[in-house]
Amino acid sequence: MVKFSDFSEDLHACNMCGYCVPVCPPYQEIGWESAAPRGKVYFMKNVEMRSPLDRILRRPTKMRDFAGRATQEALDFTRAVYECTGCGACEAVCHAEIPFDGFWDDVKEWLVNEGYGPLPEHRQMLKNVETTKNLPGKDNERRGDWFKEAGGVQSDQPEVLFWVGCAASFERQSIAKAVVKILNAGNVRYRVLGREEWCSGGPIARIGGGDYVKKTLMPHNMEAVEGTGAKALVTACAECYRAWTKDYRRYGGNPPFAVFHISQYIEKLVKEKRLKFTKKLDRKVTLHDACQLGRVCGQSEPPRNAMKYLQGVVQLEMFHNRDTTLCSGAHGGFREAFPQEAASLAARRQAEARDVGAQLMVTTCPRALAHMNEVKRGRALDVVDLAELAAEHL
Ligand code: SF4
Ligand code: SF4
Repeated sequence: MVKFSDFSEDLHACNMCGYCVPVCPPYQEIGWESAAPRGKVYFMKNVEMRSPLDRILRRPTKMRDFAGRATQEALDFTRAVYECTGCGACEAVCHAEIPFDGFWDDVKEWLVNEGYGPLPEHRQMLKNVETTKNLPGKDNERRGDWFKEAGGVQSDQPEVLFWVGCAASFERQSIAKAVVKILNAGNVRYRVLGREEWCSGGPIARIGGGDYVKKTLMPHNMEAVEGTGAKALVTACAECYRAWTKDYRRYGGNPPFAVFHISQYIEKLVKEKRLKFTKKLDRKVTLHDACQLGRVCGQSEPPRNAMKYLQGVVQLEMFHNRDTTLCSGAHGGFREAFPQEAASLAARRQAEARDVGAQLMVTTCPRALAHMNEVKRGRALDVVDLAELAAEHL
């Protein structure tokens, strides 16, 4: 269970330079420094700055009044902490090298432990995962319903475990079907877990539910994947990729198998001459770097490399690309709690894509895809997943 002292040391590293302020997408939308990393760090430094005498006399803190009730400041601060998409832009520019990536997860988890978080808008997300083991709250027995229709074949001796993720299992099954088409074309032996696949926990950790991920989701998922004997896990979901490669390791899990994003696996199959994209489809596309895969996990190039094998595809770069990618607003519970600001971020991303002359936006995050397609207006471009795009070229 996370305590304030677990992350307070990082607070002192901050020199208040302000580099993290203009790059923070919620700050760009909301305009108050309380929404920016520096503003939140400043508040927390003040929480900590209590003398021993204050503690002995039990003087009120910024978080609780004399009666031990939450102060208005604490409630405002809690809301400000959740004005965060977990995009990693602050970590990328921070001079003091504060590991914001896990830091914000810890701050949110501490707020949950103290009874301030999560926000009411997030409770349904937590409840869904606790009761159904998937984010949209569907019957998990039906998680693999799409598999047969996709022409999927379960192997008894799989090379890889295809980790589908909640979004591709229930809401955008065309992504899951596209991955199966790619694996079939490469003659890869694979398995899917069906109902034994539970939410990876990425979205839950981002809203302060790290304890549940650590104690329940991670152990179950690790055991289920290991039980298949596969030497590698492949996923098309940027959030799940982050969960498996970063979050689980941070929580003390250490997957004894390789973890690939589908873009990395496509490159591997092509280089091994097991996969060839033969269909030429002329189109100009632009990649919306999913924060979780690109900036947070340092894998900005694999999606670009995979698209080089697709005949007829011309890649155009938006102004914000790779480490400077602009978050779509879909992540970290931001869309659920701050829908207007999240829609505005998506609209800005759409405008950038149009400005470079793209006909289609491609991404590697199913939730960003759903969000940007849902809020698009006027001349906004269609957004597709990289796996869907690649499968069309087979
Ligand atoms: S992770 Fe992104 S949204 Fe959250 S505080 Fe940092 S820059 Fe802002
Ligand atoms: S960039 Fe880092 S050091 Fe500078 S204000 Fe932000 S958190 Fe503090």
